[in-house]
Amino acid sequence: MRAVNHFIEGGSGVAASRFGDIFDPNSGAVQARVALGDAAVLDLAVAAALKAQPGWAATNPQRRARVMFEFKRLVEANMEELAHLLSSEHGKVIADSKGDIQRGLEVIEFCCGIPHILKGEYTQGAGPGIDVYSMRQPLGIGAGITPFNFPGMIPLWMSGVAIATGNAFIIKPSERDPSIPVRFAELFIEAGLPAGICQVVHGDKEMVDAILDHPEIAAVSFVGSSDIAHYVYKRGVAAGKRVQAMGGAKNHGIVMPDADLDQVVNDLSGAAFGSAGERCMALPVVVPVGEKTAIALREKLLPAIAALRVGVSTDTDAHYGPVVNAAHKARVEGWIQKGVDEGAELVVDGRGFKLQGHEQGFFIGPSLFDHVTTSMESYKEEIFGPVLQIVRAANFEEALALPSQHQYGNGVAIFTRNGHAAREFAARVNVGMVGINVPIPVPVAYHTFGGWKRSAFGDTNQHGMEGVKFWTKVKTITQRWPDGGVGDGANAFVIPTMG
Ligand code: NAD
Repeated sequence: MRAVNHFIEGGSGVAASRFGDIFDPNSGAVQARVALGDAAVLDLAVAAALKAQPGWAATNPQRRARVMFEFKRLVEANMEELAHLLSSEHGKVIADSKGDIQRGLEVIEFCCGIPHILKGEYTQGAGPGIDVYSMRQPLGIGAGITPFNFPGMIPLWMSGVAIATGNAFIIKPSERDPSIPVRFAELFIEAGLPAGICQVVHGDKEMVDAILDHPEIAAVSFVGSSDIAHYVYKRGVAAGKRVQAMGGAKNHGIVMPDADLDQVVNDLSGAAFGSAGERCMALPVVVPVGEKTAIALREKLLPAIAALRVGVSTDTDAHYGPVVNAAHKARVEGWIQKGVDEGAELVVDGRGFKLQGHEQGFFIGPSLFDHVTTSMESYKEEIFGPVLQIVRAANFEEALALPSQHQYGNGVAIFTRNGHAAREFAARVNVGMVGINVPIPVPVAYHTFGGWKRSAFGDTNQHGMEGVKFWTKVKTITQRWPDGGVGDGANAFVIPTMG
């Protein structure tokens, strides 16, 4: 059986004693096993990183950028293989896997501009004969801990910026679909990155804890569910590290009475059910404003949902594939039952869906709930499956309050033709990323990604300038070159001012 090993100092020779199963979600069978490492394995990676990082940090940024350019070329050249590998472990359809990798590559494109990005600030003549300038220096060794749902994009969010800014980077991918980050690490070496700068250690909680406690790891970037994100944040910060920890989501789509409902239904189908709903920027809650909008929306949603094709990842006509594993399938179906028990109307029930010839695969049909209310647990919590909930609102203020008061605040969308309503909504909603007639407002790579409330712990976002700030520390230099003339001997007992 295929084994997915740690990737340390450019190779995968480290022996493992514990393993986890990697499923093929299309068939339900175990297709490979992944090494589950511990603190001793991490020590090996850290030792290699410590050896390699000073040289990499001293490499001029233009040369570091050239590695990024070459890496991008290699990923593009290997896109088919990578997308198939990603789909085979995650279950998303091939076109979606390509999108997953492409969104990560866009961060690499941003990193190709790192020489420009890292230019510091300079003030000539900040005081008499005094100049002030700043530089951004790498932290040393950074680590990334990533979720299963974007095994291409999220590792590249982190590794691209961490490495381009001169750090050594160690990633601990999700043990459910760990192969893609290993392939990325191999391609980085092929692109000219020194061994020890991009490494992969696999594992579960044991490895995560080893990372959080390791004294040589300066920063940890985490993406996953909120309880774990909070735990990682607290433990990492307590160990003196810089930590950013992105968590779960429950994104709402507000549908104003003047919205183009055909467009909304088209957008919602993809945003609610695409990737089987396993996206932190999915739209699992739709909020029609006014009774007429609710009735019309529901009427249009029903045939759109009936037309959804659930299939294996390689089915090019499928809209979405299986969920990641049997435990997650059971969890999503448990939430559907909970919704029924809580009194929501289950309009379309996706449970019990079987794909002919793939009866053991982890497939779930699309589900639609109506008359969901804010007191229901199935509304308060993230379901992370192909389940759309309709929460009806009487007016704009009521609709605005729903995402604003929800525990999660990752993304939100408003569908309207009214610029004033959209502007007002964007300004007032208590959520980190807003779409206006855009269902999945994942910002482009040179902007930045991050939610609010329980969707993110820490104060910097992923990628863009926020990412550069996270992976670097600022040094500010105040310089004076006295020529020995009068006035060079300032009174040293008074706090210096530039006045
Ligand atoms: P998860 O929290 O189960 O796992 C994330 C990582 O944490 C994995 O690497 C896993 O090995 C590790 N982990 C799991 N349990 C742990 C424990 N008890 N102690 C320490 N580490 C542990 O998340 P997941 O199921 O892989 O991913 C889905 C979640 O990620 C969803 O909640 C989704 O919304 C969220 N997500 C958020 C964003 C964002 O940017 N906000 C992006 C993608 C996914």
